Amino acid sequence: MSHFQFRGDALYVENVPLAAIAAAHGTPVYVYSRASLTENYRSYADACRAHGRNEQQALVCYSVKSNSNLAVLNLLGKLGSGFDIVSGGELLRVIAAGGDPRKVIFSGVGKSREEMALALSHDILCFNVESIPELHRLNDVAAGMGKRARVSLRVNPDVDPKTHPYISTGLKENKFGIAFEDALATYRVAASLPHLEVTGIDCHIGSQLLDDAPLLEALDKVILLADQLHAEGIALHHLDIGGGIGITYDDEQPVAVADYLARLFARIDRWRAEKHDGKPIVMLFEPGRSIVGNAGVLLTEVQYLKHGATKNFAVVDAAMNDLMRPAMYEAWHGIQPVHRRPAGARVYDVVGPVCESGDWLARERTLSLEQGDLLAIMSAGAYGMTMASNYNTRGRAAEVLVDGDRFSLIRRREAPAELFALESIPD
Ligand SMILES: *Cc1c(COP(=O)(O)O)cnc(C)c1O
Repeated sequence: MSHFQFRGDALYVENVPLAAIAAAHGTPVYVYSRASLTENYRSYADACRAHGRNEQQALVCYSVKSNSNLAVLNLLGKLGSGFDIVSGGELLRVIAAGGDPRKVIFSGVGKSREEMALALSHDILCFNVESIPELHRLNDVAAGMGKRARVSLRVNPDVDPKTHPYISTGLKENKFGIAFEDALATYRVAASLPHLEVTGIDCHIGSQLLDDAPLLEALDKVILLADQLHAEGIALHHLDIGGGIGITYDDEQPVAVADYLARLFARIDRWRAEKHDGKPIVMLFEPGRSIVGNAGVLLTEVQYLKHGATKNFAVVDAAMNDLMRPAMYEAWHGIQPVHRRPAGARVYDVVGPVCESGDWLARERTLSLEQGDLLAIMSAGAYGMTMASNYNTRGRAAEVLVDGDRFSLIRRREAPAELFALESIPD
């Protein structure tokens, strides 16, 4: 059930009218539902339990880059989640939020020596390594610290996730991962380095996938590789199938997490029974969008209405710097009025104040609006605030977490003077 619902003509999140949040904290403001975050996390955790896996045997490593607010990380950590990070900064966030670094996996193509040392000092679960030079650098950093780094290789299974080209990552032409045909040779290199311990295989083929067929196809390839490694005496602790399950922005119907995981565990169980005497293998998942995407909205206020001969514009106080997805991917977000008006609907482009024609949030929406109205930009919990910038010297939005009939400010609005406080003028 969505926790963003109309009661009469007023839009609520859980038991709080969105208008009350705007009155208390101004706009633009991101608003997240704790109940929704919890349910979405549990859809993964419960499916793992339903297939006989405890937390040691199947671990959800929430993808921090999708929404990295400390309150969100703290909530998910308390529910048992691990974390998938892509920078040292994200690791420090996880720790600041009370997350367990031993449940952290470190992804990304460009890890620096400093980031590796930081992660090793916190004894993270695993590095997802994406190239041979990265293996050598990690081995070197670990040697300098007298440690062994647990690694899995991010392989590129070359399956088409049938999603937007900017968010597909598992095809040959992407910068991510190690080409499938090079994987075995790369594993041999990893196994030969004394300060690395090969523990897994990782892949992540793309984002906003509506169908699990490409994920299961990738899993089959990963299983094939695991058996090749097994034959060479390289034993694995885990397989990591990445994130990528999509959400409903408009009328998409993504596969249910429970159905996807049922098919996935069925394949794993069959494979382990046939080839490995039923010996279990740990499964890792890296979901981001499917946990936070529909748990958040961006609340904004209409500043001006411009009614023209060919087009009507609603200029709102949120912009591309707050929510990049429309400008960057031509992404579609639902727009809901916070108070429905009975009449006067027109077709509007909803645009922000930033000086770019690409600064639009929604196009050609039928809305009944007056200046000063509040709008909720739906499904904005993932890749919203984390991709926000200060372009046009705009302070980033505030963030609020709702829990039942209470709400808390979890990030205050940035003041303009803070935006240039780090700058200086040479004498
Ligand atoms: C971004 C990312 C994810 C999360 O993807 P979603 O589509 O949000 O689930 C998982 N793993 C890696 C390596 C990523 O880069």
